[in-house]
Amino acid sequence: MRSSSDARPPRSGSFNRILVFDLDDTLYLERDYVLSGLNAVGQWAAGALGINGLGEVMRGRFDAGCRTRIFDHSLKDMGLEAHPETIGRMLAAYRQHRPTIRLAPDTEQFLASRDDATGFAVITDGFLDAQRRKIRALGLYGRGIHLGICTDKWGRECWKPNPRAFEHVEQWFGRSGRDLTYVADNPSKDFNAPRLLGWNTVQIARPERIHVSVTTHVPADRIIESLEEL
Ligand SMILES: [Mg+2]
Repeated sequence: MRSSSDARPPRSGSFNRILVFDLDDTLYLERDYVLSGLNAVGQWAAGALGINGLGEVMRGRFDAGCRTRIFDHSLKDMGLEAHPETIGRMLAAYRQHRPTIRLAPDTEQFLASRDDATGFAVITDGFLDAQRRKIRALGLYGRGIHLGICTDKWGRECWKPNPRAFEHVEQWFGRSGRDLTYVADNPSKDFNAPRLLGWNTVQIARPERIHVSVTTHVPADRIIESLEEL
């Protein structure tokens, strides 16, 4: 079934429980998306600006642990100026590239062995264009996800912890509270809304995740490292 947040809701009583997933570092490794994006920006810079080797320099910075201003610093590493306009075009190339990413093996296995009584949805923050391309690249609608919500389609103010997407999922499936579970990686924003609504919450802490939050604002009910434990 081809789905999106505009898809038709299921008949009431179709599902006993609803599993809702975050996307980045929950269903796949976000580092794969970053590496795919840096590679695309490197190719763009070679074609549009005649700069060769920028992709490798950016990747080197990322591998060394840099997480902010990789574009600026990598241009400077190469003795080039980081004009705001150049950075803007690099960002566009990054967000609009067609990502080479794949589901984590345990996600693949989990979705393949899903049961028909469970409804599946995704709630993800991030720039609309980029998140839609990720969902497409991962083929989520062909793997049993019934509903995908990119919160950015309602504007930045509706990103998590805003409850709008969670309330939408409840209405769409006709279920509430403990019938739903949210599985996500970031305790600084992911669990506020589902906990307020009385959902079950599970934090997935993949060892290879990009962001390791130092402060836990709203913890989940339980923590796992792989969907095999779900
Ligand atoms: Mg995430």
